[in-house]
Amino acid sequence: MRILVTGGAGFIGSHLCQALLAQGHQVDILDDLSTGSLVNLEGLRGGRSLSLHVGSVNDAPLVEELVSRADYVYHLASAVGVRLIIDQPVRTIESIVGGTTVVLDACNRHRTPFLLTSTSEVYGKGSRVPFCEEDDTVMGPTSTRRWSYACAKALDEFLALAYWVENRLPVTVVRLFNTVGPRQTGQYGMVIPNLVEQALRGEPVTVYGDGTQTRCFTHVSDIVGALLDIPGHPETRGQVINLGNDQEISILGLARRILEITGSPSPLRIIPYDEAYGPGFEDMHRRVPCLEKAARLLGYHPRRGLDDILRDVVEEKRRRLAL
Ligand code: UDP
Repeated sequence: MRILVTGGAGFIGSHLCQALLAQGHQVDILDDLSTGSLVNLEGLRGGRSLSLHVGSVNDAPLVEELVSRADYVYHLASAVGVRLIIDQPVRTIESIVGGTTVVLDACNRHRTPFLLTSTSEVYGKGSRVPFCEEDDTVMGPTSTRRWSYACAKALDEFLALAYWVENRLPVTVVRLFNTVGPRQTGQYGMVIPNLVEQALRGEPVTVYGDGTQTRCFTHVSDIVGALLDIPGHPETRGQVINLGNDQEISILGLARRILEITGSPSPLRIIPYDEAYGPGFEDMHRRVPCLEKAARLLGYHPRRGLDDILRDVVEEKRRRLAL
């Protein structure tokens, strides 16, 4: 098949493209290289099967041309990372909602099946454990910038599902939970690459809040496996599906594990949220995915645990930082 991956030069996108090429597909990447980078594509051996188009998902004529040639579209292009979202709220909202509108419109015209990568952020500050796909989303006030990301991604979901209901365009929405692995940068705030780099450099390892908040981290290879399976499962059309890992750890526990695995002498530094993100920041205390639907529709079961993730990230960061 000929497959278009928007955001294909990003962290998850580059792993997806690598796997699609290994399966023998022809891959077009559309990426504006804002948070994605050519470095992510260095190890990809695509030859003539891989084409990189540097441009924006908001560029309707370019999207039209690429979608017209595609048999399937993975739409990953999106602003990403709490740090970036807080610092650049206009870009966050416009690129997410605007880009998805353009790509879906083109897919609808060409009847090209479409997959949207959404996020566990859309559950907002809901307190259910675990989060199931049909649970309410609980957003904070519009004056708190973090929620603009959740709302924008939720609007993308509404739009994709609307195309399915109104036009029977085959769409699938996946909500990714804290995906981690090699090539993820700490630049946009993500905790594991950040803390691993701090530990390897011998700098203080920064835990925000009181460190009792928890997350469930997923190895990027588990996510990519599910993304590859979805086109072959028509029962995923018109569906929203959580993808993640339900092994939960506190951020303080994570920081301690990183210090153990790296053998780092770095001290722990507890930083109040206000100092880390500015006044009025809201965090989620727990975020655990319910994976029953993914198991039922796709036979999805995450294979790699937290230690596998940390080993892979530490090995890659050591190589890059030459430490
Ligand atoms: N976090 C932290 N230190 C950092 C970066 C993040 O303690 O250097 C915390 C952050 O406040 C949150 C958790 O780690 O509670 C996960 O943060 P991340 O930005 O990776 O993902 P998200 O908040 O979107 O789950």
